[in-house]
Amino acid sequence: MSTGLRDDFFMGLALDAARAAGEAGEVPVGAVLVDEASGAVLATAGNAPIASADPTAHAEVLVLRAATRAAGNYRLRPGLTVFVTLEPCAMCAGALSLARVSRLVWGADDPKGGGVRHGARVFDQPTCHWRPTLGGGVRDTEAAALLRDFFRRRRPRRTREENLSENVTGFTGK
Ligand SMILES: [Zn+2]
Repeated sequence: MSTGLRDDFFMGLALDAARAAGEAGEVPVGAVLVDEASGAVLATAGNAPIASADPTAHAEVLVLRAATRAAGNYRLRPGLTVFVTLEPCAMCAGALSLARVSRLVWGADDPKGGGVRHGARVFDQPTCHWRPTLGGGVRDTEAAALLRDFFRRRRPRRTREENLSENVTGFTGK
């Protein structure tokens, strides 16, 4: 399978996890951690900060935790890739760097909440000591549509205060 087709396939699994998160009332973002050489999916997760009452329970952090705990090592072995449906925030970019992930592939860009191509640009900082190979824009239309539909459905039930805060904090609020 070519890299492009493989990326599309694994992003499809991340999109499934994002959809499930959205159905559970979380912001629909999903991630998978994959050993590309063998094709093994080591962990799958959707965003879960609300259900777990944990502001750090982003999909990327959850797949890292699952894989490092299973391996009994706080760093990932070489050759692993995280596929995530949305450009990671600064916290997740920092965690991916600390975990030594080899490659990071995301779907939609996140100009308001992202920390890779936008905002803090974590991997570009001299204080960042591990930079994965980066790829963005994989099945980005589908990932963005999931988020757009989620917020569109939620908006009518929101209070004026919540709408104001969304305008300040941005589109994802994940
Ligand atoms: Zn994050």
